[in-house]
Amino acid sequence: MGKILIIEDEAKISRFLELELTYEGYEVMTAADGRTGLNLALSNEIDLIILDLMLPVMSGIEVCRRIRQVDQNMAIIMLTAKDDVSDKVMGLDMGANDYMTKPFAIEELLARIRVALKREKTEEVRDNGNIYTFGDLVLDDMKRQVSYKKEIISLTKKEYELLKYLISNKNIALEREKILERVWGYDYYGDTNVIDVYVRYLRSKIDQKYNIEMIRTVRGVGYIIYD
Ligand code: CA
Repeated sequence: MGKILIIEDEAKISRFLELELTYEGYEVMTAADGRTGLNLALSNEIDLIILDLMLPVMSGIEVCRRIRQVDQNMAIIMLTAKDDVSDKVMGLDMGANDYMTKPFAIEELLARIRVALKREKTEEVRDNGNIYTFGDLVLDDMKRQVSYKKEIISLTKKEYELLKYLISNKNIALEREKILERVWGYDYYGDTNVIDVYVRYLRSKIDQKYNIEMIRTVRGVGYIIYD
């Protein structure tokens, strides 16, 4: 079903979650401070983390930030005692997938865990999809190679990643913020203009060179590649 790491310093809540999640069939690990939790997260095959915000030694925000530096796909649900909007925003900014305020109903948390695990799984499948096409253009992710009618197109790392993100999400209008988050990473603090610049690079290397219309602008939103 999946392995869940609980990082929570309140023993009662941690024990309660451990019992409930074990009962539901998950494999469970626990940590009572941020640093121990981070170490467990980085040294085990964890599918989802339930992360308390206020933790001793290292805060939940910091744990989240450090996990995101090395793992963009890990499902993270943050817990906090305070119903504080700024905490929520900061947690989501640092890359938490979801957020719950204590006290919470266990059924609601279980539902959110199921959603987060499902999302993680579909993203993994998408990542391993290997080959994406647009007409005669082929992106082979095993070889990290893009070609048009077998002619190899030389792209920089970021150009490649941007194209891969767009082409692997065909027919979905991708917002600039989302593109920035997924291609440049959660710890990138520049603005979204960088995306327009890279789209221009891609268009000059592909669309204009081969006279095709691949990357389309969605006004006020971002970009899309249609099938
Ligand atoms: Ca706490």
